[in-house]
Amino acid sequence: MKERQDRPAPVLQEDKEIDRKEGKETEESIVSSIISHYSIMDLSDIYPSFDVDMDGMIELIRNNGYRKVLVQVPEGLKRGAPHMVEKLEEATNASMILDGDPCFGACDNSSVKAKALGMDALIHLGHSDIPSMERDPSMPIHFFPVGMKVNRKILNEGIRELLTSVREDRIGLATTVQHIHLLDEIKVMLKVAGKMVRIGPPGKREFFPGQVIGCSFHCARSIASEVEAFLYIGTGRFHPMGLFFAIRKKVYCLDPMTGRISIFEAREMDRFIRVRHSQITRAQDLIDKGERVGIILCEKPGQKRSDLAGSLSEELNSRGIKNEMIVMDHISPMKIKTLGSSVVVSTACPRIAIDDHRSYSEEGIVILTPVELRIALGKMGIEDYLLDEEW
Ligand code: SF4
Repeated sequence: MKERQDRPAPVLQEDKEIDRKEGKETEESIVSSIISHYSIMDLSDIYPSFDVDMDGMIELIRNNGYRKVLVQVPEGLKRGAPHMVEKLEEATNASMILDGDPCFGACDNSSVKAKALGMDALIHLGHSDIPSMERDPSMPIHFFPVGMKVNRKILNEGIRELLTSVREDRIGLATTVQHIHLLDEIKVMLKVAGKMVRIGPPGKREFFPGQVIGCSFHCARSIASEVEAFLYIGTGRFHPMGLFFAIRKKVYCLDPMTGRISIFEAREMDRFIRVRHSQITRAQDLIDKGERVGIILCEKPGQKRSDLAGSLSEELNSRGIKNEMIVMDHISPMKIKTLGSSVVVSTACPRIAIDDHRSYSEEGIVILTPVELRIALGKMGIEDYLLDEEW
């Protein structure tokens, strides 16, 4: 199968692949080399804030002689997608279908749908490949990560301000795929300021060194002993929290869009664990009262954890706790409510249980991660709490 990463143009996706596999730290930006290709067909009228590799997609379609392509884009790129697809069709004469369903990650790719529709290939924008993900070799999937454009002045000011507060000398760097092209540049800035900077290798679910996703923080854990703190480039609190869980050291956060700096420390993690503990306790009460446990198995190619779901079912059976495995593609509180389940454990994306637990609570449902179920069953203590990274 031809992968997006096999395409000849971006130097680092080939030459640096060796470094990636060997877990070496790259000295150049991986995605900056991709972004340097975004020049021939300008999409800034459609996507002013993003760098979309139109030239790469056109080249890919032409080189492979694709006639029918399914195009999948994440929610943030949906609005301009019909115009982008129209331009792609004009440039390649291939016929395109745009996938209108929600898309949350590379794990959620539409390869099955593409095959059912008789497409030649799937182009998936906005996320990088999950190398360990199961796939059908007869349906090529081409991943095109999309970088966010940043204002250099704001970014530089943010780094300058950050350097006034960072006391640690050995710093790890991490970010999400949207900002991965900034890592090497920021690394150089920190080095010039006298810091020793490390960027960890990707795990089996990430593609780039220094990349984190909500279900894997391997790049941090792999260099935890070598750094005194981490710098996370991005927004939100989930990824900094994942980094904190992985290294148990201070995580500085720099929002590259605003230059705003914050710190994730132990007390924020403690607050999070208290919230999750209350969910775990609720689940324990319900199970003690004889409630059945629903084990959610997700159909999405990169979220399907059949073995894990099976082992949780066995664990519950061995304790005489009634349970059933429930398979779903898109998971929602209403679907669970219809089944009458009040305690469910999700083996799908870990963020469903963490981010959406209030929506489930409103429907009288407690949703746990596999780790949390083990805590509810007394197999682990709450002090051993971990985010769900069992892939
Ligand atoms: S499983 Fe969830 S966190 Fe992991 S890549 Fe998919 S959407 Fe992201």
